[in-house]
Amino acid sequence: MPVPTSSHTQHVVILGGGVIGVTTAVTLARQGYKVTVCARDLPTDSESTGFASPWAGANWATFATKFDYRMQRWEEYTFKQLWNLIPSGHVMELPITVYKSEQGIKDLWHKHLTPNFRNIPGPSSKPGVAGAAFTSVSLSAPDYLGHLHQTALALGVSFVRKSFKSVHEPFQPGQNIPAADLVVNATGLGARKLDGCNDPQVMPIRGQTVVVDAPNVKECIMALDGSYGSESAYIIPRPNGQAILGGCFQVGNWNTDIDYDMGQRILERCFELNNALSPTGKFEDIKVVRHNVGLRPAREGGARLEFEMIEDAESFDEAHPVVHAYGIGPAGYQCSWGMARDVLNLVDDHLKPASSLEMLTSTDNVKQSATTTPRSCPVAPTTTRSRSSSQRWIPQSPIISPQTVLI
Ligand SMILES: Cc1cc2nc3c(=O)[nH]c(=O)nc-3n(C[C@H](O)[C@H](O)[C@H](O)COP(=O)(O)OP(=O)(O)OC[C@H]3O[C@@H](n4cnc5c(N)ncnc54)[C@H](O)[C@@H]3O)c2cc1C
Repeated sequence: MPVPTSSHTQHVVILGGGVIGVTTAVTLARQGYKVTVCARDLPTDSESTGFASPWAGANWATFATKFDYRMQRWEEYTFKQLWNLIPSGHVMELPITVYKSEQGIKDLWHKHLTPNFRNIPGPSSKPGVAGAAFTSVSLSAPDYLGHLHQTALALGVSFVRKSFKSVHEPFQPGQNIPAADLVVNATGLGARKLDGCNDPQVMPIRGQTVVVDAPNVKECIMALDGSYGSESAYIIPRPNGQAILGGCFQVGNWNTDIDYDMGQRILERCFELNNALSPTGKFEDIKVVRHNVGLRPAREGGARLEFEMIEDAESFDEAHPVVHAYGIGPAGYQCSWGMARDVLNLVDDHLKPASSLEMLTSTDNVKQSATTTPRSCPVAPTTTRSRSSSQRWIPQSPIISPQTVLI
């Protein structure tokens, strides 16, 4: 794709180099914005436990509840984007089987979206558990982040390693970057401590996984029926011949140390689900590549995606435009393109004169959206705005809670 000729000169600074920050950077740069990503952890820091993105599975398996239309919309749009990336080799098509409570399976909303969707019986040993099978996608998180990073660089996005204390700093001179016209806050768990945001509803959901060499495993299985308490069993094959095995959903747990006893439980449960994890069919021959821990950046009340004018406590007559995009918890990859599109709409609303919006719909934007929902579609009713820092934002989407995760 050619680098767009900048249709305007506004500078957007994105705080956060995880999948949400970088997907947003690509989305904004494709529309001609000048974009700088400033982050403590950059997308290629694949060994850093300071952010969630390198540690994801990652597949597409909905976390949106039956009535969470905002998240469904993000997941649906992202599914289509990831599906279109299959020919690139960065995303893989794969059959997936999910086991949940009977109600959890009934509530699955994506029968129209994911090919080959069908209901299947649950394991006979687990009454009350039902299954669904469909075709989905997976990716190797570190490789995919590298691909996004390269895509962003090719579009002219700058990356700066920098930790900010406040959402206001990027608007000030002397930060070694051009002053921002607007900031996107994609700091994940960092939103808890970032001044101007300081969101106490942000919390980690700890996940532990084991990566194995398993080129013969071509199917994803997810036992999310709650029978292992805060733990679960899932196998996600990746495009590189490895598979990632999980896992757990430990709400509020900040510990990034590896629990090797849990690692052993993960291996045993996943081997029960599919013996082909071992090249010989014997448990002891499973080829473990590594054990991982990652903290999913969740938020009580659901992800926050909204525009806010935030008053600068240091200089009372100033307020700065910020679009928040954090707190997506266990679903950042499968929501990434949908969230980025909503961020773009909010950025456009604030930074673009009406005349250039019209210009965009008739030029490159039409090409971008040809195979997707038009970008001019209204933002979800749950994508809220507050124009004053004194107005408290009230969450409108269901909490991503352990219950939501495990049903
Ligand atoms: C084990 C596990 C399995 C998962 N599986 C899946 C899956 O199958 N599918 C899926 O969709 N998702 C999955 N996820 C969830 C996914 O990883 C997250 O939703 C996603 O990575 C969140 O991305 P993010 O960009 O919001 O946050 P993060 O990746 O945490 O990035 C936050 C960024 O903000 C930066 N930052 C924070 N504070 C500051 C500051 N003050 N100044 C500057 N920079 C700052 C950080 O350095 C980092 O760059 C999984 C996660 C885990 C742990």
